[in-house]
Amino acid sequence: MSAYDVIIVGGGLIGSSIAFELASENLRVVVLDRQEPGREASWAAAGMLSPGPDSPESSALVPLGKESLRLYPEFVAAIEHASGKSTDFNCNGALEVFHGPEAESTRNKMVADFHHLGLAAAAMSPNEARKLEPSLGPQAGAIAWLPDEATVDPRLLLEAVLAAATHRGAEIRAKCAADALLYESGACAGVIAGGRKIAANQVVIAAGSFCGTIADAVQEQNPHPQLRQYAPVHPVRGQMLALRSVSVQIKKVLRSRHGYLVPRRDGRIIAGSTLEDAGFVKQVTPEGVRQILDAALELAPTLADATIVEEWSGLRPGTPDLLPIIGPTDIAGLWLATGHYRNGILLAPATARIMRDWIVSGKSNFNAESFSPLRFTAAKSRAHAQAIRSVPGT
Ligand SMILES: Cc1cc2nc3c(=O)[nH]c(=O)nc-3n(C[C@H](O)[C@H](O)[C@H](O)COP(=O)(O)OP(=O)(O)OC[C@H]3O[C@@H](n4cnc5c(N)ncnc54)[C@H](O)[C@@H]3O)c2cc1C
Repeated sequence: MSAYDVIIVGGGLIGSSIAFELASENLRVVVLDRQEPGREASWAAAGMLSPGPDSPESSALVPLGKESLRLYPEFVAAIEHASGKSTDFNCNGALEVFHGPEAESTRNKMVADFHHLGLAAAAMSPNEARKLEPSLGPQAGAIAWLPDEATVDPRLLLEAVLAAATHRGAEIRAKCAADALLYESGACAGVIAGGRKIAANQVVIAAGSFCGTIADAVQEQNPHPQLRQYAPVHPVRGQMLALRSVSVQIKKVLRSRHGYLVPRRDGRIIAGSTLEDAGFVKQVTPEGVRQILDAALELAPTLADATIVEEWSGLRPGTPDLLPIIGPTDIAGLWLATGHYRNGILLAPATARIMRDWIVSGKSNFNAESFSPLRFTAAKSRAHAQAIRSVPGT
């Protein structure tokens, strides 16, 4: 008998949220992280819970985003209850700010698109918006008010989710990198970490941008496809700044197509971000800082005399079609939960719920077909049907 029902590789928000859900079902769960858990993308994030599409291509993500936002209050309550820690979850809404001569028409189109997708949005004048957020700058030409948007402090949330998962019985192993997958009789039967085998009935790969770097089985003549084939994830760097101002406090998210400002409970204002293809290099650059500050000061010029109290960067797990990779592979016992790109904080509750339902009962009520790891492999439809049929209830 395996020591564990489930191994989760990666202790970011996605892996630790899945661990919480599975441990709550009394499964024996271990989370392996190659460093201190939760120090990668999830730690770097702004924490906006924003289900609207970034681009026409990401519209397919909206139903999952809406479902996850719907689950958030319940998820946070369960996490805060089990951990005794606060996550700074706030349902304060967001102001999307449009600049330039096309401001009103672009805003109107966005509001119409949001309504079409079943998302709340209302046109607002800059003067009306300043009643909600007095620091809004004079360059704002038109505003969309997004009343349902929320925020969370990702660092507080991570700490709480890891504590909650532990409280429910999950084991969290720091500084334990999974180097390879272990196969027995064609099924994934665990991982190899630090030269030692760790056996489990199910393995969930939730290693964010690093999924492709986990080598596949060490067996000779390994017949299984490389993990990269299921998870062609690449890092997309985002730089961030934290500002503190004695004169400016913001209460709501301010966002434009150039950047965003997100308030934290401790008075800091998080300013972001860049979207860069820089490999695995986590760095803050003068160009990145300039871009972020230009966007921040366009939104709220009175921040010009704020202090920069922290700077950092993180790696978003990007995918070729901008959609996450969630679900079973065609190898029994091997699951993926990665590729959440710009939305992993938002999508954590729904991802964890879907993975829990699949692993525990072999099916999920949420139709996550478009996120299947098999969409990147050649024999997608045949293998997917087979994988769904062969999912064991644990
Ligand atoms: C600057 C920035 C701003 C963002 N803002 C937002 C936002 O406002 N809202 C939102 O919803 N999303 C946001 N995101 C996206 C979000 O942060 C990610 O989608 C999400 O954190 C991905 O979580 P994850 O758990 O998959 O990955 P990660 O948090 O990267 O965790 C992966 C974990 O796997 C571990 N690991 C890697 N390899 C191995 C191995 N071989 N063995 C064991 N462990 C391993 C790593 O150490 C790490 O802890 C932002 C991201 C960035 C970078």
